[in-house]
Amino acid sequence: GFAPASRIARIDVSEIVRIGARAQALKREGKPIIILGAGEPDFDTPHFVKQGAVEAIMAGDTKYTALDGTPALKQAIQAKFSRENNVDYVLDEITVATGAKQILFNAMMASLNAGDEVVIPTPYWTSYSDIVQIAEGVPVLVTCTAEAGFRLTAEQLDAAITPKTKWVLLNSPSNPSGAAYSEADYRPLLDVLLRHPQVMLLVDDMYEHITYDDFRFVTPAAIEPRLKNRTLTVNGVSKAYAMTGWRIGYAGGPKALIKAMSVVQSQATSCPSSVSQAASVAALNGDQSFLQERKASFQRRRDLVVAGLNAIEGITCRVPEGAFYTFSGCAGLLGRKTADGRVIATDSDFCNYLLSDAHVAVVPGSAFGLSPFFRISYATSEAELTEALSRIARACEALT
Ligand code: PLP
Repeated sequence: GFAPASRIARIDVSEIVRIGARAQALKREGKPIIILGAGEPDFDTPHFVKQGAVEAIMAGDTKYTALDGTPALKQAIQAKFSRENNVDYVLDEITVATGAKQILFNAMMASLNAGDEVVIPTPYWTSYSDIVQIAEGVPVLVTCTAEAGFRLTAEQLDAAITPKTKWVLLNSPSNPSGAAYSEADYRPLLDVLLRHPQVMLLVDDMYEHITYDDFRFVTPAAIEPRLKNRTLTVNGVSKAYAMTGWRIGYAGGPKALIKAMSVVQSQATSCPSSVSQAASVAALNGDQSFLQERKASFQRRRDLVVAGLNAIEGITCRVPEGAFYTFSGCAGLLGRKTADGRVIATDSDFCNYLLSDAHVAVVPGSAFGLSPFFRISYATSEAELTEALSRIARACEALT
C-alpha cells in the first residue's frame, strides 16, 4: 500500500482545514453557521484590476510568460518597492510566483539542506513550519507571549541562533496575532542579525496595507541596508487588493537566491498565470486610494471585535496593530463545563464548543503553535460580527 514520504509524514492536515470542513458540513445541514476562520478579505477585487485582466485576455496574453514574472509586472513591483518601501531592487532581484505561499516554498526548497534550522516566532502562520519541513529543514519555534505583544525579542533571537541557522522568518503585521513591528521594534533584531552573517532574513509583508491607528509600516531592507543582500522581502496582491484567487505573490532579494528560486519554479509551475500577472500590473500601477477606505472599514471591525471580546469574562484580547485577525487568550475559560457536562480543557475544546453550540467557527491557537488562544478573522460584515460576538458571549456565560 501507499506510505507517504518521510518529508510529508510528519505534517498533519491543519486544524484550520478540519474546523473549516466541520463548519461547512454543519452549514449544509442547515445550521446558521458564521465562519470567522477564513484568511481572506470579504471585499471584491477592484473593478480596474478585473479590467486589466479582461484586456490581457483579449490582447492574447494567454501563453507561458517569462519564468519568474513578466517584465511589465517586475517593473511594477520594482516601482512599488521603491515608492512604498524605500527599497530599490534591480529586475534580477525580483521574482513572481503563484502566491506568496509559492514564494516561501521556492525560497525554502532553493536554500535549505536537510537539518538546516529556521527560526519561527510563535504563534506563526501554519504554512511556515510545514513548508520548512517539506524542504527538510528544522523549524525552531520561539514562543512570543501576549505580554510581549506577540513579538520576538533580541534576546530570544540571539539565543535561538545556532551554527545551523539558515533563516529567520518574520511576519509583520502577523497572521494570526495581528501584531506588527515598528522600526523601533525591528532595530534590536536587525542588530542581532548583523552579528550573525550566516543567517538570512525572510520578512513576510503580506499585510502591509492593513494597519491601524498611527502605526507606521516599515520593512527591514529599508531600515538596515547592510542586511539587504541577505533579506528576502516577501509580499503579494492577495490581501491588499482582495485577490486571493488570482494567486500572485512576489519578492525582492539577492540575485543568487532569486535565481535559485527560479530553478525550483521552473520545474514546479513554469510561470505564474499570465492573466493574473496582467491583473497584478493593473493593481500595483493603479490608483491606490481605495486602500484607505478598506483600511478604515477593517479598523471599525477590529474595534468592534476587540471591544466585544474583552467584554466577555474569561477572554482577553490584545489590540492588534494590523492584519484582520484577533488572537485572544481563553485561559480564563479552561476547566469550565458546558451545560451538558463536557469539560473545556483546551483551546481546541473551546473552539469545538463554539462551533457546535454557538454556531461560530474560529480557529484554536494550537493551529498556530500557541495555546490557549483562538483566532478570529474579522474580514466580514459588521452585522455578522455583532451577531457572532453575542453568540460567543452567550456561550461563555453558559459555562459553569
Ligand atoms: N503570508 C501570510 C502571513 C498569510 O497569512 C498568507 C495567507 O494567508 C500568505 C502569506 C499567502 O498568501 P498568498 O499565497 O495568497 O499570496
